[in-house]
Amino acid sequence: MRVAVIGCGVVGAAIAYELSQEQGLDVLVLDQHPPAQGATGAALGVLMGVISHKVKGRTWQLRQTSMQRYETLIPELEEQTGQEIPFNRQGILSLCFSPDDLPKWEKLVGIRRTQGWRLEIWTPQQAVTECPYLNIEHVSAAIYSPHDRQVAPSALTLALVAAAQQNGAVFQFDRQVTGFEVKSAGNGLQACQTLKVSKETIPVDWVVISAGLGSTGLTASVESPVDIRPVLGQALQLQLAAPLGNPDFQPVVNGADIHLVPLGQGGYWIGATVEFPAETGMENLTDLNPDPQQMKALLRGAIGYCPALENAAVVKHWSGLRPRPQGQPAPVINPLAGYSNILLAAGHYRNGVLLAPATAQAVRAAIT
Ligand SMILES: Cc1cc2nc3c(=O)[nH]c(=O)nc-3n(C[C@H](O)[C@H](O)[C@H](O)COP(=O)(O)OP(=O)(O)OC[C@H]3O[C@@H](n4cnc5c(N)ncnc54)[C@H](O)[C@@H]3O)c2cc1C
Repeated sequence: MRVAVIGCGVVGAAIAYELSQEQGLDVLVLDQHPPAQGATGAALGVLMGVISHKVKGRTWQLRQTSMQRYETLIPELEEQTGQEIPFNRQGILSLCFSPDDLPKWEKLVGIRRTQGWRLEIWTPQQAVTECPYLNIEHVSAAIYSPHDRQVAPSALTLALVAAAQQNGAVFQFDRQVTGFEVKSAGNGLQACQTLKVSKETIPVDWVVISAGLGSTGLTASVESPVDIRPVLGQALQLQLAAPLGNPDFQPVVNGADIHLVPLGQGGYWIGATVEFPAETGMENLTDLNPDPQQMKALLRGAIGYCPALENAAVVKHWSGLRPRPQGQPAPVINPLAGYSNILLAAGHYRNGVLLAPATAQAVRAAIT
């Protein structure tokens, strides 16, 4: 069975790796760019699972599946490919600035306990003992989630590609899919027969659309297109002379939705802004520019809870576009309406790195 995966961000790469372990599938991945150049290349890789407020239904199940899979996936990929994937196992520390939010956190701690996950509520004094670089002036508590993780998104994607290739999957980059040809599959459904790539056509039995924002254009001509729009995010890489606090305890810190992500040797990522395009029509989606004021506010916010960052050198500043589905919750993992052999695995918005392993498992289950 020939399966074509369109898009090689973290989602497409995870799908390709998962499918490459299945006997009898010929996996072909097509991307118009090299791997990890879209949203994935901009992501911070913070895996907000246990500490998220999603507690039931599909959104929690996907998170839980991914968190469990990450524990085996990273060593498995490192072993198979020999490539190192930076994976921070020291948890996430989330600062709570309003005492009014505490009951919500206490409730979450109880729910997670029943689900078999640990969350701790620290006093501000405990937080500053563990992380002496924190300014706890306005902090009412800190929630520590030891099971949550952070992974380097590009390194992960490249390792997934390498491992899938070793398992026999074929990757073609700089190849844009422009459309597909269909025939009737009975029951009122259509089936995709071939993909159009430049002037060529490629025969397929299954198609997985994991093209992030590109999924909208790819489905534009079908009866129920998927509408995925960009939400811009800016981030910074900072460099300090030495790591903050205890070099042996470097969790991701989150304060007021601003992540401080340790990279080792005094390097940190800070991000990300959440910038919506003007809601006045599709034409505005293309001229989405990073807002310098939001960037300044991001840095100010991080310095607010970690004053030592004031002296850090800015090494890099970048932005990316998160794929956010309209009119339905993220992510979109289901058959394309009206088609028997096209699956959508797109629109992961703010959590594509977190949800890639669970998405890949769902796609494998649907195909096999
Ligand atoms: C600043 C920022 C910070 C983020 N931080 C986090 C985080 O901490 N944790 C987290 O989980 N998520 C985070 N995200 C979100 C995450 O980046 C996305 O959810 C995720 O990368 C989506 O992956 P994807 O593979 O679906 O899309 P993409 O990475 O955008 O990949 C889609 C691919 O499809 C290709 N493509 C599109 N159209 C076509 C076509 N017609 N033919 C061929 N190829 C095509 C593109 O070239 C691209 O490579 C962040 C995002 C941003 C912008």
